[in-house]
Amino acid sequence: LLDMRTLWVVIVISYALLGGFQLVLWQLQRRETAMLFWGLSLLCCCIGGALFMVRGLIPDWLSIGVGNMFTATGYLMTTVGLRRFAHRPIRWLWIWPIPLLVGWLYIMVPLFAQNAGPRVVLMAALLSLTCVANLVICRRAQQRERLRLRNIAMVAFATTLVFSIIRATITVWYTPPADFMAPSTTQPLLMLIGLALLLLFNISLMLMPGERLQNQLRRAAQNDALTGLLNRGGLDSQALQQLEQGRQVAQPMSLLLMDLDHFKRVNDNYGHDAGDRLLCEFAETLRTQSRPTDLLARYGGEEFCALLPNANGQAAMAIAERIREHFSQATVAVKGERLGTTVSIGAVEILATETLEQALQRADKALYTAKHEGRNRVMMAVHPSAV
Ligand code: GH3
Ligand code: MG
Ligand code: MG
Repeated sequence: LLDMRTLWVVIVISYALLGGFQLVLWQLQRRETAMLFWGLSLLCCCIGGALFMVRGLIPDWLSIGVGNMFTATGYLMTTVGLRRFAHRPIRWLWIWPIPLLVGWLYIMVPLFAQNAGPRVVLMAALLSLTCVANLVICRRAQQRERLRLRNIAMVAFATTLVFSIIRATITVWYTPPADFMAPSTTQPLLMLIGLALLLLFNISLMLMPGERLQNQLRRAAQNDALTGLLNRGGLDSQALQQLEQGRQVAQPMSLLLMDLDHFKRVNDNYGHDAGDRLLCEFAETLRTQSRPTDLLARYGGEEFCALLPNANGQAAMAIAERIREHFSQATVAVKGERLGTTVSIGAVEILATETLEQALQRADKALYTAKHEGRNRVMMAVHPSAV
């Protein structure tokens, strides 16, 4: 038989510690203001719980009325934080009247001020509504930015929703005990489930900005800032994975190594900025002329690489030719002039027996030949046995 008041102390301490921690984390990452709202949410629930805990020792209007007002604010701040985290606007006009209404009902209206049943039902309804809102916000946000921790938070919100509906239903059918602190077997069980859920979703929320940051850092480390394509490191790590997968299903795989022609001249004659714009234009050509499964990378200054899964040498030649042709027509406007250049491409079908490094060397030789033979052309790499 667990003592109710002790359980309340545990819950209030949990709220305080989690809330304090959330605010410390917010200080470390001030950009994520959602963490401020989640911290405030926990501290509001902490104050609400503390006022409820000392029921009988302070006036009822303070314990019940003001206590529930804080708790309602806490529920709503979780939702506000989730909206902020998803970069959605916050409609404060919808938010702030709710805790005031709860306070007014619980202090001024006898039905609520004198009966625990309606109070429990109303708070459970508010909690259910915020859980539904949280689930909707998370589902939408998940479509734009997948976070594993957001999935865990969603499970916790869904469970809380079911839990609070059950709690409200039980309360409607059975009048709750007049004294919430009286020893009982069901009440502590409900409180423990509540405690587990609050820990589950608050810890998920607390760690979610970290997961976002980690993803952003990984993206920044693997992508080229100018063109948005993969950088060399990004290609190396993802290409090995692709190669492994392709080999398991005996899929042909090819690689293109591309180098823009006379690019130094572009820089010298039109400036570095114009050169940069032409690099972006080529990246755009690569994107539009390739398939979504192709890995596209800026391999060096004006050198690009594309790994083409499920493409044999012939298909790779066709794709390369399409890229070459398309880019030879592309131009950027510089000082009233249309500026453009061409690209030379070395293509290679990766053999099952060779490493990525060896395939790249063959592609590089083919590229060299393409340059040597006059540029603006695609050359197929020779088979190693022919060397
Ligand atoms: P080729 O046809 O033989 O490839 O001649 P090229 O002038 O393109 O070849 P080279 O490798 O000699 O020159 C590459 C130039 O690319 C040199 C460098 O100034 C330029 N470059 C490298 N990185 C960048 C960049 O990020 N922005 C700009 N604008 N230029 C870059
Ligand atoms: Mg070069
Ligand atoms: Mg070049």
